[in-house]
Amino acid sequence: MISSRIKWKTYINRNAIIAFALSVFALAFVFPGGTSELPGDPKQVAFEVIDRNADQIATLGDVLYYFAEPGMQEYESAKFVKETLESAGFKVELGGAGMPTNVWARWGSGKPVIAIATEMDALPEGSQTPGSIPRKPLVEGAPGHMEGHNVMGAVGVGAAFAVKKTMEQFKIPGTIILSIGPAEEQLISRPYLVRDGYFKDVDAALLTHVADNSATGYGLQNYALIGAKFTFKGKTAHGGVNPWDGKDAVDAVVLMDIGFDKLREHLRPTYRGHRTITMGGIQPNIIPDVGQIWWFIRDANGPWAKENFDKLVNIARGAALMTGTTMEMEPFGAAWPSLGNKAIAEAIQKNIELVGMPKWTEEEQKFAKELQKSLGRFEIGLPTQASRLVAARQNSSSNDIGDITWVVPTATVRFPVAVPGVLAHHWSAAITPATSIAHKGAVVGAKVLAASALDLLTSAELRTAAKNQFEEDTKDTKYFSLLPPDAKPPVDLNKEIMDKYRPEMRKFYLNKKVAFK
Ligand SMILES: [Zn+2]
Repeated sequence: MISSRIKWKTYINRNAIIAFALSVFALAFVFPGGTSELPGDPKQVAFEVIDRNADQIATLGDVLYYFAEPGMQEYESAKFVKETLESAGFKVELGGAGMPTNVWARWGSGKPVIAIATEMDALPEGSQTPGSIPRKPLVEGAPGHMEGHNVMGAVGVGAAFAVKKTMEQFKIPGTIILSIGPAEEQLISRPYLVRDGYFKDVDAALLTHVADNSATGYGLQNYALIGAKFTFKGKTAHGGVNPWDGKDAVDAVVLMDIGFDKLREHLRPTYRGHRTITMGGIQPNIIPDVGQIWWFIRDANGPWAKENFDKLVNIARGAALMTGTTMEMEPFGAAWPSLGNKAIAEAIQKNIELVGMPKWTEEEQKFAKELQKSLGRFEIGLPTQASRLVAARQNSSSNDIGDITWVVPTATVRFPVAVPGVLAHHWSAAITPATSIAHKGAVVGAKVLAASALDLLTSAELRTAAKNQFEEDTKDTKYFSLLPPDAKPPVDLNKEIMDKYRPEMRKFYLNKKVAFK
């Protein structure tokens, strides 16, 4: 195979057209069905790149941990990641789809186009000292990485860099994209990215997320969601003296709440509907002229969630009519259920088995057990065997990254950073994402991700299988945006929090540089 390729090469120099045709033919031989059949295995090269840069990936994750920026406020994180990627040779765009902290990086050219997608936002009130089992915020009340999204940003960059180096060395054609979307925790960014066409040329995507093990899956993973804030405006008056002159905006909020409770009986058993009253007046003797209620409406698929949501909007209109108030709706979060592609998941699973699990030290196992003990969980330590591939069981949570999975064949690489038994969105989940446990998990995650991206770049068979699976999975339900046509991303989300805490948080910034080699 190799010698005949050399012979062709001497011949084809004479004619550019023949050269092109033959190099395509040659590539078909070089990359028949995966990367592992080559002399000088590209995956092994990618793994060496990741091992060589393990400390850089760890530092990047730690730097993001201390930035601890919640959704839409990932300014320092986005800037740092942009600089890191640019110094590694990527073209990086910030601000896509009207979101200043959106990171969209690419390297290479032409088809196939493979995207890695993740997020790096923190959560309000999650500040914690890494490695401290007792509650010990770095800055009292400040945001923190109590889910480990900081490690995901680092793993995405590490994997994309390893893929680039390998593509260069083996002259693998195509494009690698890294998409880090803002505000996953508020389910904001991906519907906007999809709406603006960011994924329209992408052939396949790999999502990545921290977990308590190495794992992937296929099928429907979770629920569709539409969120919105409804603001009613009326007229203030004295509650005791002249209430007949007032138009009570909080009455509208209450009537909307009652209206949805009446609707509940007539929704499918799969629905979820929950709300919080975000503006409820000042004191009883002031008729409130502003009231606001924020809803999340979910169901097992996009069309059903939309159906429920449209009924909710009618209830809001009715509440405004009943009270003589005005109603404004501000879209706030939307998501399709994540759909895992079986063909891609099977390729990922092979890579999970190829890469293996992190080699935990005795101290790391002891630490994990102490943490589990302190939380009243089973003291099982850290996993030493990866999960098996299974069909997903659909749960009723939601994640805006789901929108990508309905426009591009996609599956998820989960990697071990969380201690089993520790629940995300609790401060105890912020203990490990900047420790050696996270650093080791990140290396495993980056390797599985890079190897899976290489499979998709080099195997036309895998891409075709993924596409066929995608067509089968989506034949009855076609994607449409759950966003109203005029919806704009809420770019001031979490701004007040960061205005308040950033000066104190800044004192903990690592001030380190990251340079991939
Ligand atoms: Zn998450």
